[in-house]
Amino acid sequence: MDCLFCKIISGEIPSSKVYEDDMVYAFKDINPMAPVHILIVPKQHLSSMNDISAENSAVVAHIFEVAAKLAKEFGIDESGYRVVSNCGADAGQTVFHLHFHLLGGTKLKVEMC
Ligand code: 5GP
Ligand code: ZN
Repeated sequence: MDCLFCKIISGEIPSSKVYEDDMVYAFKDINPMAPVHILIVPKQHLSSMNDISAENSAVVAHIFEVAAKLAKEFGIDESGYRVVSNCGADAGQTVFHLHFHLLGGTKLKVEMC
């Protein structure tokens, strides 16, 4: 499958990995929007939030567990952080492999839309 994040997970395309286990892969965003900007992705290819179902949703809980662990590791657990997943054109999704942005290290703008 011609998917950028599948290629990053397999190592075909290099990335700055910060965490990996059997279910997820986490790496630094190439174009950081905050001092800490990490992408956390399931190893299984799911195109977006639309692909989450009862069969695969355990990985989403695990991603949030990893986000909390990485927030501690990167020293933003006390100062605060945000976890975001963009789904589809109106949300600005550009890579169609489900991913969660972990953002922090600065006062984030409070803009929901
Ligand atoms: P989206 O806009 O789909 O929610 O987020 C995609 C994110 O992937 C963007 O923040 C973008 O900077 C990041 N990204 C795109 N290509 C690459 C890449 O080749 N390597 C890394 N590390 N991040 C990428
Ligand atoms: Zn993929």
